[in-house]
Amino acid sequence: MVTKVYENIYMIEVILPDNPLKVLNSYVIKGDDKSLIIDTGFNRKECMDSLLGGLRELDIDIKDTELFITHLHADHSGMASIFKDKGIKIYASEIDGKLINEMTSMPYWERLEEFKVLFDLERDGVTFSEHPGYKYCLKEPVEFTYISEGKGIQFGSYFFEVIDISGHTPGHIGLYERNHKLFFCGDHILDRITPNIGFWGFEENILAVYFNSLAKIYSYDIDYLFPSHRNIIRDHTRRITELLAHHKERLNEIINILKNGESTVRDIAKRMEWNIRANSWEEFPIPQKWFATGEAMAHLEYLYCTGKLHKELREGKLIYKLK
Ligand SMILES: [Zn+2]
Repeated sequence: MVTKVYENIYMIEVILPDNPLKVLNSYVIKGDDKSLIIDTGFNRKECMDSLLGGLRELDIDIKDTELFITHLHADHSGMASIFKDKGIKIYASEIDGKLINEMTSMPYWERLEEFKVLFDLERDGVTFSEHPGYKYCLKEPVEFTYISEGKGIQFGSYFFEVIDISGHTPGHIGLYERNHKLFFCGDHILDRITPNIGFWGFEENILAVYFNSLAKIYSYDIDYLFPSHRNIIRDHTRRITELLAHHKERLNEIINILKNGESTVRDIAKRMEWNIRANSWEEFPIPQKWFATGEAMAHLEYLYCTGKLHKELREGKLIYKLK
């Protein structure tokens, strides 16, 4: 389905089959001779049919487009190969662009096997082969045009500034149109659902990075915030306030769980509240177990970095406890 969302700006609903996110909002900015597409959908047939059908409806030839990828997740970048095959310019941040290409090789995914032990997920028999990021990502590397904050791109009468909004992924970027007060924010801010903040390594306190990116966007003058899933947001400050409160609650929840004694990441995730259709941790689909432990990790490391927790390695597993 294609909807006009602003002058010369359209939203193509790309179906994400069997995925709780349901739909990816792919935005299209119709320019004079070239159009800009923001994000693609998974590397799977149903997504390709939605995206290409939408472009046909808009009477846009894919050859006359450029692609902007907000961040590395497969539902945003998975179909970049069809643009690559046509020699189309593909913009991405250097950090996420490099990770997208690493994700086309096995060593990236084998690292998840190490996390499996570290997080105590071995007990659940999870494998990375069930991870949607693995199943539906690009299968071969792409040459990206790296773009970063301070740069801009012109399409038709719009000038888009690239804005660093890392946190949801390490190199998440968005596009801001100052004159019209439009912001394409990928998964940085979503309405109704909270963007997943995962674990990317011990080098960075990613939840703190996310908080900084939320605070940064709070002060922007935005009339229309265009997210990659669910509804367009008109009052971004209200939503940012809600998201900050949500994570604060999460941090408190973990502290309360740890009041009962030390725990592995998996056991903390198991005891946290999750808004999914499963009665118990055992019923969680495998991808949700990955996401839940990743989210627990981001919060645990935030608490560790801010001096609230101890951690140690025991038999290869991370154990967290209150200070
Ligand atoms: Zn995402």
